[in-house]
Amino acid sequence: MAEKPKETKPGFQNPVAGFGVTFKAMFKKRLTEQYPEQQKTTAPRFHGRHQLNRHPDGLEKCVGCELCAWACPADAIYVEGADNTDEERYSPGERYGRVYQINYARCILCGLCIEACPTRALTMTNEFELADSSRANLIYTKEQLLAGLEEGMVDSPHAIYPGMDEQDYYRGLVTEAAPGTEPQVALSKGEVPQEGASTFGEDEPASKKVIG
Ligand code: SF4
Ligand code: SF4
Repeated sequence: MAEKPKETKPGFQNPVAGFGVTFKAMFKKRLTEQYPEQQKTTAPRFHGRHQLNRHPDGLEKCVGCELCAWACPADAIYVEGADNTDEERYSPGERYGRVYQINYARCILCGLCIEACPTRALTMTNEFELADSSRANLIYTKEQLLAGLEEGMVDSPHAIYPGMDEQDYYRGLVTEAAPGTEPQVALSKGEVPQEGASTFGEDEPASKKVIG
């Protein structure tokens, strides 16, 4: 049996029906955001720009293991690890992240990298203003990603807290830099030792060890 054709509205009603949507929207609350004049607060766990965290004494948490880079589905992370020495120490353990880059032209802010990080060195901030007109500017370096210094911290490289080992850092036993801790000379970055500069080893309290 042939299907009965649907009833259609008379032609003159169609434009009026179309305006019905407009009229309904007129009385709804406006969603327009006055960005960038008015910044919107993000959700607490918003996935924004990454941050490389420090231990409470200022040493770096990154151990240069590259697990974040392997976990990244967008191949946006580049890491090169290197060995710490007593004269130039960036993290409490054997290795540190010598080169660390995130390419925000590739990153999709999925957060898989921070899940993969075994030391909680890598986390994400709420900062979302990452747009730029240059590809080169979208590659963030370790210096840009490294967390700032808080009270009680001394910038890396510097000696490990006297009497503590790597495990103690992760147990939370180090809460600030040892008294007298001084930044070491970053020879690998081309810094030149200053006359009278001090470097501290692991086996002696930092406050007592001064090497000219
Ligand atoms: S957030 Fe996702 S895409 Fe961005 S660097 Fe991490 S794993 Fe890669
Ligand atoms: S950020 Fe974490 S996962 Fe990535 S290299 Fe450093 S320690 Fe390893």
